[in-house]
Amino acid sequence: MGEATVWGVPELPEVEALAAYLRERATGRAVDRLEVAAINALKTYDPPPSAAVGRHLEGAGRHGKFLELRLTGDLRLIVHLARAGWLHYRESFPSAALLKPGKGPIAVRVRLDDGSGFDLTEAGTQKSLAAYLVTDPALVPGIARLGPDVLSLEPEAFANRVRGRRGQIKGVLTDQEVLAGVGNAYSDEILHAAKLSPFALTNRLSEEQMARLYEATRLTLTDAVTRSVGQRAAELKGEKRSGLRVHARTGLPCPVCGDTIREVSFADSSLQYCPTCQTGGKPLADRRLSKLVR
Ligand SMILES: [Zn+2]
Repeated sequence: MGEATVWGVPELPEVEALAAYLRERATGRAVDRLEVAAINALKTYDPPPSAAVGRHLEGAGRHGKFLELRLTGDLRLIVHLARAGWLHYRESFPSAALLKPGKGPIAVRVRLDDGSGFDLTEAGTQKSLAAYLVTDPALVPGIARLGPDVLSLEPEAFANRVRGRRGQIKGVLTDQEVLAGVGNAYSDEILHAAKLSPFALTNRLSEEQMARLYEATRLTLTDAVTRSVGQRAAELKGEKRSGLRVHARTGLPCPVCGDTIREVSFADSSLQYCPTCQTGGKPLADRRLSKLVR
């Protein structure tokens, strides 16, 4: 549970790694059964889950933080794992019995024709994992609104997207309509690598700062993808954790300069940063904390 809160939504590198894992394990296999245990997790009703049966998995990919499994006949199972969701691949299932609706963390189970398959699970009580069975990815509302994939852009297009949305860079970088793929954890890492304050305003970034932001974004994400791909799905979260320099490291020393990592808390999230590396040594105001102190 704490893990889900700390590591948050799987972002571009983890979803990319899950897609790579499924491509390697499951491509060519046919769907034997698609069971939906959490009724609210499946957001589409036409085509029904039974439409997936007998179709072969042709590939797996990603739209921003959405995972896509492509089945023959242009059918796609698209999943947004949300905060506490995950995909568990299984070599085999202990029983052939159908899942009991509403019981336990398993939202969706996909059985393949060789006895293997995977479960989409969600821990905790706030159920927001979302699955869609569609013939066109654009039918998924969150995908229709996505901006270009953050790793697909050349420097100039990247700068235009970022400057096109006025606001604090932390919020703009994680806005999926501006750029698809980056969430709370990797935006902390990117801004630390770029030596930028999370509260820097996008329309005031200099050319040099923008160039640093672009480089930091590419390096941080491609490095995380390289470390994640090839990991077993179960080990991905550990891999993400081991690669983080500031995110979820409040109170620990910055690996670059040794200063103490600080955080700013919001209603349902927090950001971490290094004052020496990112804000000229000045701590950012934490509204929640200053309220408590007063
Ligand atoms: Zn530092």
